[in-house]
Amino acid sequence: MLMIPGPTPVPEQVLLALAKHPIGHRSGDFSKIMAEVTANLKWLHQTQNDVLMLTVSGTGAMEAGIINFLSPGDRILVGSNGKFGDRWAEVGQAYGLDVVKIEAEWGHPLDPEKFRAQLEADTGKQIKAVVVTHSETSTGVINDLETINRHVKAHGEALIIVDAVTSLGAVNLPIDEWGLDVVGSGSQKGYMIPPGLGFVSVSAKAWEAYKTAKLPRFYLDLGKYRKDAAKNTTPFTPPVNLIVGLQAALKMMQAEGLESIFKRHDRLKRATQEAVKALGLPLYAAEGAGSPAITAVAPTGVDAEQVRAVMKKQFDIVLAGGQDHLKGKIFRIGHLGFVSDRDILAAIGSLEATLVELGYEGFTPGAGVAAAARVFAKG
Ligand SMILES: *Cc1c(COP(=O)(O)O)cnc(C)c1O
Repeated sequence: MLMIPGPTPVPEQVLLALAKHPIGHRSGDFSKIMAEVTANLKWLHQTQNDVLMLTVSGTGAMEAGIINFLSPGDRILVGSNGKFGDRWAEVGQAYGLDVVKIEAEWGHPLDPEKFRAQLEADTGKQIKAVVVTHSETSTGVINDLETINRHVKAHGEALIIVDAVTSLGAVNLPIDEWGLDVVGSGSQKGYMIPPGLGFVSVSAKAWEAYKTAKLPRFYLDLGKYRKDAAKNTTPFTPPVNLIVGLQAALKMMQAEGLESIFKRHDRLKRATQEAVKALGLPLYAAEGAGSPAITAVAPTGVDAEQVRAVMKKQFDIVLAGGQDHLKGKIFRIGHLGFVSDRDILAAIGSLEATLVELGYEGFTPGAGVAAAARVFAKG
């Protein structure tokens, strides 16, 4: 049972769709699937913008989202409060961009005021893009994208480029309503399908920037994907089976409805947080800043890696560890994608049994399950 922030669990309908023989990617049958999937991706993204599919992981989608719209030496602001924010700064540096990091301590959300200050001071319009990680998976923190984006809009020139890898399909992200230019995501997170597909949505304003952008691009040249998407095809061989799986997953999402999907993730988050608190374990994310996709726990009185080991060995539940300097200091409970209330009860019950086994004494057995049950009872 995967309770990590990707790959996430895959429903049976999707597994069965994945089990079919591959079909030719230049066939009429495949074009029909592409047309349906593209329309449903726009629904999921709440946008009329292009939503392009690439055979890459989330990082590839974000790299494409950055390099297609910028030129060497361009200044970009990059929000940095965890591993993924830092990664986009590294991508910018690798391509010779002038990267200015806007930092917050890990576990805390980015401060929109710091973005406002930099953007307002930029009267010469040197800042060409602002890159923000919406849900910072490494720390379990959700950033206030809506407010940061308002400051970007007030600047007028800069593009807003969003890492939505663990927020798309988990929390409301109205691309058109907010005017988000570029939004990247990956199949193994909120999409309920295995790893291998990356998604990038691109606004008209970003396509304008594309025309004059001079960074090198070939496989990740989004213009190629746009041109072919208009004909319901792709420039290179796509992972046809994954796209058939995606077709099934999008149907399930439409049956559930966006509003219900977001409510479910919010409920899973609250139940997990309340349960963890009831067990006397500190949450890593600052109060009120927890991500709907993942809850990070910084245990005291019990070793994070031992918790993960017993959860895996005895209960067959995989939790994520900490990354970089958080290795061994935190464990993370993923509740993104195909996850139900029952899964959370199973995970919390197993976590309690794990704590008993490890001799942790800071809690009353049953308190975590009871706290989660109270959240579920209220809805
Ligand atoms: C998983 C993830 C990514 C992408 O990672 P890949 O391993 O390249 O798929 C990017 N950003 C965030 C916030 C993520 O959680």
